[in-house]
Amino acid sequence: MTEQSARRTAALISVVVPAYNEAESIPALVARLDAILPKLGAHEIVIVDDGSTDNTLALLRSLAATRPQLRWISLSRNFGHQSALRAGLAESRGDCVATLDADLQHPPELLPELYDRWRAGAEIVYTVRSDAGTSWLKRFTARWYYRLLAVLSDHPPQRGTADFRLLDRSVVNVINELAEHALFLRGVIPWVGFRQAVVSYAPIGRHAGDTKYTPLKMLRLALHGVTATSIRPLFLASMVGFLVSLFAIAFAVYAAYIRLVKGTAISGWASVIIFVGLLGGAQLFTIGILGAYLGQVLREVQRRPPYVIRDASQPPKEH
Ligand code: UDP
Ligand code: MG
Repeated sequence: MTEQSARRTAALISVVVPAYNEAESIPALVARLDAILPKLGAHEIVIVDDGSTDNTLALLRSLAATRPQLRWISLSRNFGHQSALRAGLAESRGDCVATLDADLQHPPELLPELYDRWRAGAEIVYTVRSDAGTSWLKRFTARWYYRLLAVLSDHPPQRGTADFRLLDRSVVNVINELAEHALFLRGVIPWVGFRQAVVSYAPIGRHAGDTKYTPLKMLRLALHGVTATSIRPLFLASMVGFLVSLFAIAFAVYAAYIRLVKGTAISGWASVIIFVGLLGGAQLFTIGILGAYLGQVLREVQRRPPYVIRDASQPPKEH
């Protein structure tokens, strides 16, 4: 079989875009997708309005009026980037499904290349953003965060990956089946397996508006990224507790030594304070880790859906 005849073609390509207050970017986004997708074949654009408070939804309605290929889903409130993506994946119908951000930081012009890799047989085509040109702080925190994940997790997400990728229908089906309430897609991709290919691109600034990730949302996502991909911190917590206990025993031996052998009075309260502080710190650290996992467990046992759809351009798909 020749290279060419081994290539497959999608009967339908889906592009899923989560959007939270992106009215300023959506016209440009749709225009750029309109310029590219027809060259690839039959396609649908599924834009998920994640409880926007600007006129994102009104804009989607009017854009969809003249474009049968544009579908929109509107969530009942802001559920967050990951949940919005899941909503879009669940509603998508293509043989392959691309996901990208609404702010044009993920260049739609890369879609032909992603699609090409899929045609050549890849089941997941993910992208890696080089971090040239991003702020020093973001580079620094990202580097250390991904190092930490690499140590903690069996399937660490790769640094520079974002939710800009193309998935085969078989992978989308697996993700749709995952019952986790709080799914961290970046952590699921390395776990899920399948034939993966990577495409890299240079970072691009937002088309308009500000990042929809507040520092607090970012921290929550980072923490969630750890507790959702690894249970090693629980083990780490006991290790820290164990080391502190060892230290305590050594210190007790030392105290007995200076009291009984040296005969000098017990050294001042400073050592006691240090010791108590150390122990307290280790306990709080451990409890904090337990708490993070417990919170995760609570969310999972509640079994609430990760998002709620208020309205859509077409009736939601039967699941
Ligand atoms: N987004 C969303 N819900 C949110 C926050 C963000 O759907 O609660 C969308 C947002 O509209 C964008 C994408 O997720 O399309 C990435 O968000 P953003 O560009 O603000 O993140 P950053 O690029 O700064 O990490
Ligand atoms: Mg962005």
